[in-house]
Amino acid sequence: MRNRYNNYLRRQMKDPVLPRVSKNTLIGGVFLVLVLGIAGLLYVTNSQARFHAAPQAPAPSAGTAAAEVFTYDSTKKYIYLTFDDGPQLGTMTCFNLCRAEAVKASFFMVGLHANLKSDGHEIVNMIRSAYPRVTLANHSFSHANNQYLDFYHHPEQAAADMFQAQHSLQVPYLIARFPGNRSWVREGEIKATPLARPLARLLDSAGYNVIGWDLEWDFNRRSARPVQSPVTLAREVDSAFLKKTTHTPNHLVILTHDRMFRRPADSDSLAKFIRILKQNPDYVFETVDHYPGLKKLRP
Ligand SMILES: [Zn+2]
Repeated sequence: MRNRYNNYLRRQMKDPVLPRVSKNTLIGGVFLVLVLGIAGLLYVTNSQARFHAAPQAPAPSAGTAAAEVFTYDSTKKYIYLTFDDGPQLGTMTCFNLCRAEAVKASFFMVGLHANLKSDGHEIVNMIRSAYPRVTLANHSFSHANNQYLDFYHHPEQAAADMFQAQHSLQVPYLIARFPGNRSWVREGEIKATPLARPLARLLDSAGYNVIGWDLEWDFNRRSARPVQSPVTLAREVDSAFLKKTTHTPNHLVILTHDRMFRRPADSDSLAKFIRILKQNPDYVFETVDHYPGLKKLRP
C-alpha cells in the first residue's frame, strides 16, 4: 500500500505542472516572483504586527479587530469550495480557474506533497500570498501515508504530523482538515467519529479549527476523474441548502481534489459547475477562514 502510494507520488513529480517558458517569459516570471515575494513579505509583516497589536480582551479599536470581523448577509447562501491534497497536478489549473471566474476557494495542502514536487513550495507560497482570494489550510504532513487506521490509532503522532504540516507549509491560520476523515472542530464543538475523536481533542486543545465537508465531488479512484456532472452536482448544492442538510444552515462546504481537474475536459467541468452556481444571485463563494463559529484563527 505504502509502495503504491510512493509510486503515485513519484508519478506526480515526473509530470511538469508549469508549462515550458521562453527566456523572456522566464525573466518576466522572475520579476513577478520578486514583486509577489516582496508583497507577500509586507503582508506577513503587516499581519504579524496586527496580531501582536490585537488586544486580548474584546475591546476592538479601529484597524485591529476590524480585519478579523466578518459580517454575514442573512439573505445569502455561502459556498466554500475546497481543494484537497495539493500541491499536485491540477493545483495550478484550479487556482487559475478560480481567479478567472473571480470566485474564492480554499486549498487544503499536504506537506509531503510540497516537498516531493520540484515546484511544490513555489505553488504553496503562491496560494498563501493570494489571500484573500484563496486561503491556504493544513491537510497534514504525510496524509497518513494513506494508512488511516494506523494514523488515527496514534493520536499523538498524528497531531505531531498536523503540526509539522502547519510549520513546513507556513499555514497562516489554525485551520486544518484531517486526511480521509470528515471531522469538525470549532469553538465549543468537536464532531468526530470515535476513530478520529482523540486526534480532534488534541487539535482542539492546541487551538485548531478542523473543517469537514457537506458535499463531495466524487472521483473515479483509478483515473481521478470527476463522477457527477456539473449539472448534477449543482443540483446537489441547491438541494442541500433547500433541505437544510448542511453542517451549518446556509453554509455549504464542497470537497474536491486538485488532481480531478488536471485534464482540460475535467477543468471545463469545474468551470461549468462554478458558472452554474454563479447564476444564482443568492450564492456567495467564501474562503474557509470565514466559516461561522471558528476559534481565533491565529495562535
Ligand atoms: Zn486528502
